[in-house]
Amino acid sequence: MGKMPNRRQALLNTVFVNKTSETGARGDNQNASGELTPYRLSLLERIKALMEKPYLDVHVADHCNLRCAGCIHFAPLAEPRFLDLDAYGEDLAALARIPGIEGYIREVSLMGGEPLLHPEVAGVIRLTRAHLPNAQIALDSNGLLLKRMGNEFWQAMSECKIKLLLSPYPLRVDYPALLELAASHGVKAGLAGDVTNTQDGKEAFFRLALDPSGSQDPVTSHNRCPFGGRTLQMSEGRIWPCQVAAHHAPLNGKFALDIHAQPHDSLVIADIVSTDQIEELRRSPHPMCRYCDMAHLSVAEWGVSSLGAVEWLSNLRDIHPG
Ligand code: SF4
Repeated sequence: MGKMPNRRQALLNTVFVNKTSETGARGDNQNASGELTPYRLSLLERIKALMEKPYLDVHVADHCNLRCAGCIHFAPLAEPRFLDLDAYGEDLAALARIPGIEGYIREVSLMGGEPLLHPEVAGVIRLTRAHLPNAQIALDSNGLLLKRMGNEFWQAMSECKIKLLLSPYPLRVDYPALLELAASHGVKAGLAGDVTNTQDGKEAFFRLALDPSGSQDPVTSHNRCPFGGRTLQMSEGRIWPCQVAAHHAPLNGKFALDIHAQPHDSLVIADIVSTDQIEELRRSPHPMCRYCDMAHLSVAEWGVSSLGAVEWLSNLRDIHPG
């Protein structure tokens, strides 16, 4: 194993190399109602995000019972798929062998997709806690199925000390009542902060702008990225730096594209011997960044997906829905 680069130097290389001007241009990803607002991440915000501990997301289910426009986990486009408990147990065992991993991760997020769709969600919860006895663990849900959950689920949540985070979508959902329900089962609960704010202070959601041609400059994309390295993904035996790298596959099926990851886009969990390797992954541009058109990254108010390419892609030439 070669020596890991100095963390501070790696960070400086990541954020200061190859700066380009912000165009602010609106283009092919503007939706019909024109309500998208360009999103810009300052260099200072990027540095701050990378200095903080990362989250680690796990898709308990790829699909969802909601259809949020532009979902950055691609759930509206995903085929139904549940986390396989046997494979997940092996991945957790490998993860737990990495020295210091529980203190390194800010929080493990059991999510998706909608995690409560998984018929064995209680098993997922117990397995996660068994391998990571000291980690902060949260289950992120839209809450729509919460009232139907049985004792097995609530006992697992309570006994394993899992925090429930509800995504506060603008739906007719009585979130305070759901928080009380959780409290009645001895489960800590709150509202998740998976929304960002527009310049006028309204809650808004990211709209990706992926360039299927893969012709973006990876360094520039990574420098402007609000996701990469902040929300690591654990999927298919690997650690990925972001949602795009880990979960983009449904785009290819839906829009007949060939967006593809390369070996350097992720780490095989079983091969990781030090959290320094994860630090290097999350702070460095990687091949998938060539698909991210950060000049067209935007935010918009929540809406139901029309499953159109415009919700995820910026360069819409030659897109043929599958
Ligand atoms: S591929 Fe790179 S630029 Fe795109 S979301 Fe991931 S880390 Fe960010």
